[in-house]
Order: sequence, then structure tokens, then C-alpha cells
Amino acid sequence: MTAPPARPRVHRRALPGVDPRIFALRVPDEVDAFVVRTERFVALIDTLATPELCEQALDLIADEAAGRPLLVVNTHADWDHVWGNAAVEGRAPVIGHRSATARAGSAEALGTLRDKRAADDRFARVRLVAPTVTFDTSLTLDGGDLTLELLHTPGHTPDHVAVWIPELRVCLAGDAAEDPLPELWEGDASSLARLTASLDQLRALAPDHVLPSHGGTTDPALLDRNLRYFASLTGRYADAVRAGGPEFEAVFPDTAELSDRARAFYRACHHKAVRAAASLLTGPAEQPPR
Ligand SMILES: [Zn+2]
Repeated sequence: MTAPPARPRVHRRALPGVDPRIFALRVPDEVDAFVVRTERFVALIDTLATPELCEQALDLIADEAAGRPLLVVNTHADWDHVWGNAAVEGRAPVIGHRSATARAGSAEALGTLRDKRAADDRFARVRLVAPTVTFDTSLTLDGGDLTLELLHTPGHTPDHVAVWIPELRVCLAGDAAEDPLPELWEGDASSLARLTASLDQLRALAPDHVLPSHGGTTDPALLDRNLRYFASLTGRYADAVRAGGPEFEAVFPDTAELSDRARAFYRACHHKAVRAAASLLTGPAEQPPR
């Protein structure tokens, strides 16, 4: 008989060099949620993958939340970021991009939930809960001492939101930036253009700290590294990308420190990015001869 897999747990983590009003709630090898404590409210950025994990997160921030209203932000409606929403339903406004509402309850999300439940009973209590407060381009939350500027930054997903805290020059990048590389929504030219525009937008803010939801880094150079990676696919390695072939493997970032599972995931992301770059380089479908 094999033992059931250990249930993942949430760990509260201070972020080296970052103001202690911001900290991570980490589920190892899965995702980081973040907490921003302001004078006027406590913001929970993402609710993790299940209501149980989100309840653990709420227990870990009970001191911060005492006497302050709780606001919840959804960076995007992917399972690892927002399937804990049921734990805060009715307790806090859930803020997200307008297009997250449709994604949260989509046929695709229901299919993912069915598959995840079949594979692991920790998803049994998940309910798909959409944001209750939505916006289109940006939304400012004024916490008194700190401001949270929510920025629509699509490309990883259409509904993606990053958070900029100007007083501390902190960027909570969600999955728009990722170490070693962010995943594109589709392997097409428009996803590539959207994500690189979002990365450019975040880089133009000149953050001192960039906190992605995966990878556990705070390095502001992550934005440049991600941008250089995509630029290399359409620049330096354009010929190899156009040709298909194994040469474009040279562009794949170093993943020696990652688990086999993570490496396989990022390899799939890389192949999607190469497809997107190839479609950008070769343009839309061939024009018929005149
Ligand atoms: Zn994610």
C-alpha cells in the first residue's frame, strides 16, 4: 500500500531586503501568495490552490488582519493562484481583471477542476469563485502609508494583473515574469507581443524588487532576463527559430537546479515561446499569389 501524498502546507516567509510590510505565503514547489499590510487594510494577493490552503494563509496573517479590513487580489484565474477564493467568499472583496470573471467559471476551468480532483482529493472542496470587484486597465488601492496600483498586464493570461507599490518600488509580478521564463498564453505572435509589452511596462517602473509568484526571487533584473530571452528568439536565434530544428535549444535557459518536473514544464513553455516567435517571424498565413 502506498501512503497518500503529503498535503502541501503554507509557510510564511520574510523577503530579504524587502520592507517587512510585504511578505510571502509560500506553498513549496507550487506558488507564492503575498501579503501587503497597510494602515487601512491588509491585502492578500492570491488565494493559493485550495480553500484549505487559503484558510491556513488566513491563520498565518491573523495578527495583521486584526482590526483591519481584508482585501483580496487575484493576479489571474489560474488554479494555483485563485482556487482558494471560496475561503474568502463573503468575507472580503475579491478584486481582479474584468476578464477573470469569465475565465474563472469557463468550461476550461471546469475541465481542469475535474482532472485535478480525479488526480488528488485535496481539490475536493474547491469551488470556482470569480472576483467581486473588477477593472479594465488599472485600479488604485490607497492604504494610507502604501499604495497598491493594480495593472492589467496580459500575455501570460488575458486577465493577468500585476501590483506596483510605488512607495517601496516593489513589483508583485504574478506570472508575467518568472524564473527561468514566463509561460505565454498561446504559442502565437499576439501572446508574445502582449507579454513582452507587459514586461516592458513593469520594467519602465524601475522597481527595486520584483517578486514573481514562482521562483522565490526578489531580483529586479528578472524583468530584463525574461525580456532578453524573448528578444533572443526573434533576434539572435531568429534563423534557428525559423528553421525549427534542434538549434533553438541553445536559447533554453539554464535549469540545472530545478526538479525534473519543473524542467519539463519550462521546456514546454520554451517550445510554446519558440512557436510564438516563429509565427511572429514568418508573419500571418501566406498571402495567396496575385
Ligand atoms: Zn502560476
